[in-house]
Amino acid sequence: MNIGFIGLGNMGRPMAVNLARAGHTLTVYDVRTEAMQPLTAVGARQAASPKSLAQEVEVVFSSLPGPKEVEAVALGPEGLLAGVRSGLLYVDLSTNSPTVARRVAEAFAKKGASMLDAPVSGGSTGAASGQLTIMVGGDQGSFERARPLLEILGKNIVYLGPSGSGCIGKLCNNLVALSLVVLLGEAFTLGVKSQMSPKTLFDLVSQSSGDNHIMHVKFPKFLFEGNFQPGFAVDLAWKDVRLALDLAREIGIPMSVSSAALQRYEEARARGWGQQDVVAVIRLQEEQAGVQVRHSGA
Ligand code: NAD
Repeated sequence: MNIGFIGLGNMGRPMAVNLARAGHTLTVYDVRTEAMQPLTAVGARQAASPKSLAQEVEVVFSSLPGPKEVEAVALGPEGLLAGVRSGLLYVDLSTNSPTVARRVAEAFAKKGASMLDAPVSGGSTGAASGQLTIMVGGDQGSFERARPLLEILGKNIVYLGPSGSGCIGKLCNNLVALSLVVLLGEAFTLGVKSQMSPKTLFDLVSQSSGDNHIMHVKFPKFLFEGNFQPGFAVDLAWKDVRLALDLAREIGIPMSVSSAALQRYEEARARGWGQQDVVAVIRLQEEQAGVQVRHSGA
């Protein structure tokens, strides 16, 4: 099948590679020319814009930073909609605002095309191994059409309901995961400053009721190697918590703990750590607590 892929960053690049490996013909686009090189090196064509890409393919995927970029790629003057043909299926894998996802889906439907919001969970490792969880919103017929391709990218493909539902599911998940990063920082500075070894505390929580996924997938690199290379950047985490809080404000519910977590991500960005891994927020806590919990390797 002729497939387009837009946004070839930490997540998009390995997902696009998996589609190419499965035998599909890829046309790619990224604002950074160098990001397209690993795909063109394995035979992908390079498009000049999302508009021209839309004219060449049956299905388009995108994996973009957030709502602003999705709007530009989908609805901008050189965007997909400007080149859309009836029957085109657009699957956006970005963590996006549900409001923007609905607006794009409506604009595509008016042209006889369709759009699914399909954000993913599992990080760049899951993207490379094809083991992602994919949370899909949009019409069910389009979902069934996309499913065989989504099964190349992920192992757990969940249909959540109408347009915007995939984004809502993803934002709820990330609110838990990203608040846990902040909480791990508080718990570990508390324990380590009280003379407990980081390894002892890690093993203890792992075997107790505080155990959680984020501690195993994100935290060890920071704790045991002192490494905060992304991975998943602070800028993207800030965007996700903010989108979740925007949604909460829209529907009028209080979010006091998540609001405190957002402040930590704001502060990390203000320090210039936006491109470091999310665990960089724990560095703030280390400074304020006057104790270092991470290995001094970095
Ligand atoms: P990234 O910044 O590494 O990649 C984004 C890519 O989009 C870059 O290559 C960038 O050049 C490109 N881009 C930006 N604006 C563009 C435009 N207007 N047109 C074309 N290309 C454009 O980000 P990432 O880590 O790959 O994340 C992508 C999405 O997946 C985000 O929405 C993120 O929240 C989500 N996500 C990331 C992770 C993770 O662990 N990194 C996990 C799950 C979900």
